Parts: sequence; structure tokens; C-alpha cells
Amino acid sequence: MRLVIIGNGVAGVTTARNVADRKASIEVHLYTKEPYAYYPRPRLIDYISGKLSVENLPQYDDAWYQARGIDVHLSQQAMAVDPQARKVAFADGHKEIYDSLVLATGSRAWVPPIQGAHLQGVHTLRCLDDAHALCRQAEQGEPFLILGGGLLGLDTAMALRSYGVDVTVVELLPRLLPRQLDVEGAALLQQAIEARGVRVITGDACSEIEGDAQVHGARLGSGRFLPAGVVLISAGVRPKIDLAQEAGLTCHLGVVVDERMLTSAPAIYAVGDTAEFNGRVWGIIPAALAQARVAGAQITGQTDVAYQDVVPSTTLQVTGIDLTSVGEVNPEAGDYQEVRFLDEAAQIYKKLVIRENRVVGAILLGSRSDLAAVNQLVSRGIDVTEVQDQLLEPDFDLGAFVRRASARSA
Ligand SMILES: Cc1cc2nc3c(=O)[nH]c(=O)nc-3n(C[C@H](O)[C@H](O)[C@H](O)COP(=O)(O)OP(=O)(O)OC[C@H]3O[C@@H](n4cnc5c(N)ncnc54)[C@H](O)[C@@H]3O)c2cc1C
Repeated sequence: MRLVIIGNGVAGVTTARNVADRKASIEVHLYTKEPYAYYPRPRLIDYISGKLSVENLPQYDDAWYQARGIDVHLSQQAMAVDPQARKVAFADGHKEIYDSLVLATGSRAWVPPIQGAHLQGVHTLRCLDDAHALCRQAEQGEPFLILGGGLLGLDTAMALRSYGVDVTVVELLPRLLPRQLDVEGAALLQQAIEARGVRVITGDACSEIEGDAQVHGARLGSGRFLPAGVVLISAGVRPKIDLAQEAGLTCHLGVVVDERMLTSAPAIYAVGDTAEFNGRVWGIIPAALAQARVAGAQITGQTDVAYQDVVPSTTLQVTGIDLTSVGEVNPEAGDYQEVRFLDEAAQIYKKLVIRENRVVGAILLGSRSDLAAVNQLVSRGIDVTEVQDQLLEPDFDLGAFVRRASARSA
């Protein structure tokens, strides 16, 4: 059997590994249009900040792929899929026949229709070549303007500070990370980021990027002009669905899949950022990993393995600010309680959202000490009735409670 995977991001590579580890008899061909072997995209932030060299970006060496019989084809862009003939056509003219095909084409940075977005000095960050370009600009000491105060925009802003360049983040919404934080947490995060030298403007949006051929700055909706030599647009991502769409597969936001990660065409699976399950596309690594596990099982004949949506969990990385946000952090409806802990001097804020005696969401800002225990509370749905009020008290041992509760239910 011949398996062809398009895309060697985390979803494609994990599918390849899962298939190869389960069934060595399957021939696995992993294609990517990038000239690089798989590197986890969060490492791009460490690369920009200087924490990681380019040699340390790839996750696996050649021997790892060889040991599993995974055939990697770099710099090979898939141009068309023919589901009837079970063939993929590539930019260099060759065609590959498959028994099973996995679309793991990920997503692209979304550029909103802003005037001036085409100017020189306007960037997005999705792949290693984008990171190289940003580093070159930062080395020239150009002031940076980052449009979008989401996780990626903030992580990149902090990474760029290592060059000593001026960095300003503009966020359209009135506070940072509205999906991951509440009002209190967002205010504390903004203080922590500003204390590290990044200017943050919330509640204002870029209406035009100005320049001649080269960018000079951006005009905001409020009328204010911010000078900049580089503008990084960090406004979210969109799944890459063109191959699937042109092949006639059902697509909506992403490539629509069922709980087996199977698309509307026989023997074609979709995983990772490109896949849409239950009307939702995720754009995060935990979902890609979970989907790749299911696709790997299905392709190797374990057909009882089905995908279930993940609990969203996000972590801010290089900033020197520990932030984790898990599950439902801004409950809107229904019966819920919140337990909070705030130490403003130490810039620590923690919140747990509790529904029906179980923790369904958490914010941990400025401290990682309870991270493992909180993840367990959420993922295992541990009943916290007896200790609800003590959960975030400094002298309460959350880890010990989770261990006891887990032992009881084992
Ligand atoms: C800088 C950065 C930091 C991030 N940090 C986090 C984080 O901390 N936590 C988190 O959960 N998520 C993070 N993300 C998001 C995360 O990286 C994505 O969710 C993840 O990469 C999705 O994996 P994927 O394999 O679906 O797609 P991708 O990683 O996008 O890989 C898709 C691959 O398909 C290839 N491809 C596309 N079209 C074709 C074609 N036609 N022919 C051949 N090859 C093709 C692409 O070149 C690419 O190699 C971050 C993203 C970035 C950019």
C-alpha cells in the first residue's frame, strides 16, 4: 500500500510516524513545498529571539526518517489531486499514485484587505523563510509595527525585542487575547509586556499602511500615524484548501472531515490546520496531533479510533511571562463559579472556572507551578466539590489533591 502525505508540518509528520510505527509494510511518501525538513513552528519564535540556531530547528534527523522508512520529498509542491485516478500532480511535472492520500497542507497567514499591504517591508510569519526575512529587517534596527495582539503577534513582538528594536503592537479589540484571557488577566499581561519594552495599543486598528515603494508607517482608525520600517501582519490564519477544493472535495472553512478524518472523497484524509470537523478549524498543535493519531490508526486498519475535539489550551512562550489558558475562560451562560487568586506585586493571576463541580477552564498568568495539576483537573473532569474554595490558596497542594483524586478513580 502506498500512502502519500501532502505537507510536512506537525500534522503530516505525525501521521507519517503513526502509520510507519504501526505498519512498516505501508510505503509512506511525505511531500512538502518547503525546502526544509519538519520543524515545529513555535521554534520560529525561539529562532527569531536568538535562543535557537537554524541547525536546531528540525525535529528529526535523516536517520529518524530512514529508520521508519518515511520517504521525504522536499521542495515539491502538489498542484492537483485527481480522486478518480488516485493521482497527485506536482509542480515539477511528475505524478504520484496513491492508495491513501492525506492532505496536511496547514494554513496561510491571513492578510486583511488593508491598503498598502503589498508594500516592501510588510511581512507575515508562517514559515522559516518568513522568519529569516524578519531577522534580516531586525538586524537593520528598523522599528517594527505588529498588527494583531494575538498569541503569535505578542510572542513575535517579545522575540524581536532581543534585537533592541522598537516594537509596537496594535490590537483592534479593547484588550489582549480576549479568547484566552479575561479583563483582569489581559490588563496584567499588557503591563508585563509593556514592562519588557513593547508598546501596546488596544482598541484601534490599522486603516492604511503608508509608504512609497517601502513602508513608512501605518495610519490607525483613530487618525494617529505610527512610523515604522517594518509592518508584521499577524491577523490570524486561513486553512489552505485550494488543492481539495479544485479536486471537488467538500470544503467550507477548511476541508470537511468526519470523525475518521476522512474527507468527502474515498481514501483521502485531511488533518491539522486544514481540516474542518464539526464546523470548526482549530489552527493549534494539540488538535493536529490528535487528528494525526486518528488518521494514522484509520489508515492502518484500526477503524474503531475516532476523533473528538480537543480542549483548547494555549501557552505564551518566549516572553519571559508564563501564561497558560485552558478551556472555557470567559463563561457566558449557565451556572458556573469562578475561583481567583491575584498577587499584583508578583504579577501573578490565576482563575479557575467551575461548572457542575468540575474545572472547565483556567488562566495561569505569571506562574507555572499549578500547570500540570490544572491540566489534569480539566482533562479528567475531577470533582472538586470538597476543596473548591481552597483550590488556589497558596498553601493548598493542588498536585497532591489531583494525585489523590486520580488514585481514587483508578
Ligand atoms: C510562529 C508560530 C508559532 C506558533 N506557536 C504555536 C503554539 O505555541 N502552540 C500551538 O498550538 N500552535 C502554534 N502555532 C500554530 C501551529 O504551528 C499550527 O497549528 C501547526 O503548524 C499546524 O500544523 P499543520 O501540519 O496542520 O500545518 P503546517 O504546519 O502549516 O504545515 C503545512 C505544510 O504543508 C506544506 N504545503 C502546503 N501546501 C502544499 C502543497 N500544495 N504542496 C506541498 N506542500 C504543501 C507547507 O509548506 C507546510 O510544510 C504557531 C504557528 C506559528 C507560525
